[in-house]
Amino acid sequence: MSLRYQAIKNFSKQKNTEVSSPSKITAIFCQNVFTLKTAREYLSDEAYKSLFASIKGNKKIDRVNANQIAAGIRQWAESKGVTHYTHWFQPLTGTTAEKHDSFFTLKGDGTAIEEFDGGALIQQEPDASSFPSGGIRATFEARGYTAWDPSSPAFIMEIGEGKTLCIPTVFVSYTGELLDYKGPVLKALEAVNKAALDVCHYFDKNVSKVTPTLGWEQEYFVVDEALYNARPDLVLSGRTVFGHSSAKGQQLEDHYFGSIPERIYAFMRDFENESYKLGIPLRTRHNEVAPGQFECAPIFEEVAVAIDHNSLLMDVMDRVARRHKLRVLLHEKPFAGVNGSGKHNNWSLSTDTGVNLLAPGKTPKTNLMFLTFFTNVIRAVDQYSDILRASIAGAGNDHRLGANEAPPAIISVFVGKYLTEVLDAVEKRVTTKFDEQDEAILKLDLHKSIPELMLDNTDRNRTSPFAFTGNKFEFRAVGSSANCSNAMTVLNTIMAQTLTTFKEEVDALIEKGEKKEIAIMHVLQRYVSESKKVLFEGDGYSEAWAKEAEKRGLPNVKTTPYALDAMVTKKAKELFENTGVYTHAELEARHEIELEKYIKQVQIEGRVMGELCTSHVLPAAIKYQNVLINNIKGLKDIGIGKEGYENQLQILEKISLHINKGSDLVEQMIEARKKANAIADTREKAIAYCDDVKGKFFDEIRYHVDKLELLVDDASWYLPKYRELLFLR
Ligand code: ADP
Ligand code: MG
Repeated sequence: MSLRYQAIKNFSKQKNTEVSSPSKITAIFCQNVFTLKTAREYLSDEAYKSLFASIKGNKKIDRVNANQIAAGIRQWAESKGVTHYTHWFQPLTGTTAEKHDSFFTLKGDGTAIEEFDGGALIQQEPDASSFPSGGIRATFEARGYTAWDPSSPAFIMEIGEGKTLCIPTVFVSYTGELLDYKGPVLKALEAVNKAALDVCHYFDKNVSKVTPTLGWEQEYFVVDEALYNARPDLVLSGRTVFGHSSAKGQQLEDHYFGSIPERIYAFMRDFENESYKLGIPLRTRHNEVAPGQFECAPIFEEVAVAIDHNSLLMDVMDRVARRHKLRVLLHEKPFAGVNGSGKHNNWSLSTDTGVNLLAPGKTPKTNLMFLTFFTNVIRAVDQYSDILRASIAGAGNDHRLGANEAPPAIISVFVGKYLTEVLDAVEKRVTTKFDEQDEAILKLDLHKSIPELMLDNTDRNRTSPFAFTGNKFEFRAVGSSANCSNAMTVLNTIMAQTLTTFKEEVDALIEKGEKKEIAIMHVLQRYVSESKKVLFEGDGYSEAWAKEAEKRGLPNVKTTPYALDAMVTKKAKELFENTGVYTHAELEARHEIELEKYIKQVQIEGRVMGELCTSHVLPAAIKYQNVLINNIKGLKDIGIGKEGYENQLQILEKISLHINKGSDLVEQMIEARKKANAIADTREKAIAYCDDVKGKFFDEIRYHVDKLELLVDDASWYLPKYRELLFLR
């Protein structure tokens, strides 16, 4: 019996896994996190102050205090039954990494003790030579080290009965280059803090820190584990490379916001509880558009913490799903023909005085502050849209961005009707002095009108990749499997650069004798007029928009190898160097790593396709082909005329055609792969995989295989079908 049949047969016997939920979330929230409150309890005054200063003001922690903090963390962890610790980091593989060490050690005289000192807290040397480095760590210096990032709290990961203390770290090469996702984000946050602070001071001298905030929305699919195991393509590549669309798809729209199936609901409650213990403030859960697709979202947090929490969540979801005999699919496009998954990044800037800089102000003065930051975001996206596009590039996301699906590969900004009018008014006004009309703009009741308009769904454009939603921007093009870091590094960096230039330009006008407000309005006016082309309010999926965008000169790069070019242009190198986020060497290395990731992903998909075609699809088709042949022969033998087996003959011919075409194409694809593999230049190789392997063959092969799925006897088909993967509950 095939795995598919076993899975379907056993499906109804599945029992829901018990989940015990706390009566109140607050009872478990942050239970496994070394929060500042916990730190207060376990640390001396001095050590606590040192930790606090490091978190709030990036002050370095000295060795004595580090020892004390380490001792405090160990004491706390041991009180919770922890025996091991690990430096936890986010290498460029896209998953999280850990290497566990025990607190247990032997003193010189052989006495066994538990120990965790400042040294072990601050720095570790994982044998990490096999993590991607894009050539930075040449073989003679293959080592890298992980360095404690005090801005992110330590936490305890529970895996089964085991508990491990995790110390969030950044991963650096011995020559100082950053080798992970987290390091550059921290630098970008620093850059934007500095630039935004300077601009804030035009309006409010009391602000002393600007912190970007991030609220992600994680979309995912859930499938039954046994069905998943019978799909080697899902297991190996995260997506189904074959599969005819189900008779029922998402056309009824009956799944969106519908009631959550019980077994999935148990899974959700379970991973939510795990998340709460880790301090991940999950808030919403619901069904998404496609059958089998769901979403969860937390309350927004500071960017660095939000990124850690998203990485952790993806990990937790994966582990908890297995407990429920389910699998969670984080791939951007696990199923053709139904919606893909994204990870909207809601982003804003907030001050330590409690102001959201992208929330409309209540007075003329705060209105001008809002308009300043708002317009600078638009300017930043317009000037660096290619780099923003590169930040979300990947083999999985190409299925969303390149196709007619949310959102398009063209980066544009949606601001809504009301703000379009406000920007128009700003642009049209040519003033030499701050006159009454300008006052009129600033006195608009922005704070009342905008949120109201934004809450009205008619003024919300779901097709825009970058949309203003009342008090934040929502970067929707991020892929569901992505680490938010890439997108956040770029967004905050381009914002830092844009604000820095803005400040210089305003200051120059002030120097010439213009009043501050007029100078600001003047620069904003020019920004609006120059950046207008990136604003788009219409249907982002339409053909018309692609044409219009081309006229406007907006890039529309549909595939990863080409999109990544924007990372290493002169413009990009200057941007990242000026802001201190990446050195040229780091950029080149990351470009290389992203290309390699792409190549490997497409290579795996190509191999899986070939293998599944020959070992799963063709055997089933040939088996049925023989059934038909025997049937026809038999009918002939007993003297039935041609009209008696004409239909069988037709089916047989179709099956034979698809078998032959399919296997021919597989052979040709293997040849194309060999050719691609022989290319030495990474970019050229990625392009060959994109255009000559994937572009030429994937859809074609799939076409024949999917046709066979419809023709061949269901009982002999090996691969679970879309209707089973998506609709069995
Ligand atoms: P919706 O967009 O569905 O109306 P919300 O407005 O509550 O829902 O926000 C959606 C997401 O945006 C949530 O994850 C939320 O945490 C996040 N969010 C809200 N305000 C901010 C902000 N100032 N900065 C970053 N993210 C935010
Ligand atoms: Mg959203």
